[in-house]
Amino acid sequence: MFRINENFLKLSAGYLFPEIARRVALFSSENPVVAQRIIRCGIGDVTEPLPTAAAEAMHKAIDDLTKRETFHGYPPPAGYDFVRAAIAQGDFRSRGCAIADDEIFLSDGSKPDASAILEILGNGNRIAITDPVYPVYADTNVMAGNSGAALDGGGYGGFTYLPCTPANGFSPALPTADVDVIYLCSPNNPTGVVLDRAALTRWVRYARDHGSVILFDAAYEAFIREDGIPHSIYEIDGAQECAIEFRSFSKVGGFTGVRCGYTVMPKALHATTSSGTRVGLHALWMRRWATCSNGVSWPVQCATAALYSPAGRAQTRALTDFYLENATLLSTACEAMGLKTYGARNSPYVWMTCPAGLGSWEAFDLLLREAHVVTTPGAGFGRGGEGFIRISAFNSRANVEEVVRRIAVLMPSTAR
Ligand SMILES: *Cc1c(COP(=O)(O)O)cnc(C)c1O
Repeated sequence: MFRINENFLKLSAGYLFPEIARRVALFSSENPVVAQRIIRCGIGDVTEPLPTAAAEAMHKAIDDLTKRETFHGYPPPAGYDFVRAAIAQGDFRSRGCAIADDEIFLSDGSKPDASAILEILGNGNRIAITDPVYPVYADTNVMAGNSGAALDGGGYGGFTYLPCTPANGFSPALPTADVDVIYLCSPNNPTGVVLDRAALTRWVRYARDHGSVILFDAAYEAFIREDGIPHSIYEIDGAQECAIEFRSFSKVGGFTGVRCGYTVMPKALHATTSSGTRVGLHALWMRRWATCSNGVSWPVQCATAALYSPAGRAQTRALTDFYLENATLLSTACEAMGLKTYGARNSPYVWMTCPAGLGSWEAFDLLLREAHVVTTPGAGFGRGGEGFIRISAFNSRANVEEVVRRIAVLMPSTAR
């Protein structure tokens, strides 16, 4: 009899977005007329079209594939040199981080990377994740067998949860127990909060002292506008010996449907085997890519490189500015109603305290039924998200302005 990976059976059933979809579908079937008015500020998907620099590069790349002289077959497993060079220079060396071109590994996105990285980390690592958290970090570790059973009320046994609360400014304290793998996300999904230099320095020191590795998710790096906030973990001294960084073009370049991201795997990062040998992770990761992947398509790699051209940079800046303006409109409207919000400054997410002491799902239902606005209940990101909702700024300006109007009508009565 063949076997299955029974760790999958440990996953808690109520995955967030299906439950949101179920509630929206139910409301829509009961209220077919107002259902037309529903505005979705829930899932973190972009709405605006591709930067033209990327679109033009893709068109040209497809033409390349139609001619024998410019045809491209299998790409190198970790990406073409010109793309890796544009990334290493544009995102790291230009900010003073000594990242080499061959430390960049191109992929079809950060979500696949966050899962694939567990293939080169061993079994039995003690995993630290924040609460609330982007569910992918938790669920991939459940699938890999690094957790215990699902707990009543959310979360899994066996993980070390790092609470993020208004009291600590959503910047988690160091764990009291030893942990091996630490997931950090800044600017954060879902809270929209950034980790400052002092916080990242504490984490790098902890990881070096404890022989841990930091998995640093910087998917929203392009939304940082405040001076002095690190854009990369490698802006912290010593991080190359203890951290892997994930980046994605999904949010900065509107690539959620195009699919491209990358990991930074420094050659200075080493682990010790059970028999005491020191092993570099770069070689393992390279081997993983060569064996398990045939890389990213020629049109997508050309589009990615185009984001680093002067025109591409100006267009991604305008795109992220646009979403940040949406975030400011939304957070200002909520604050005007007396609701405390976090995030929105260096992030496309508004993390809002629920009105009138409501729970996350109650506030979600209220906004759906009374304002016809779909948000994301904070509790879906973990117990620590209870009492909050996430509002996404990934929307058209007209929709955001309409949401602002509807919140203003709805909230005065409930906020009191
Ligand atoms: C959107 C997002 C990503 C990007 O995932 P892709 O697979 O590259 O689209 C990564 N991490 C977080 C926290 C995100 O919200």
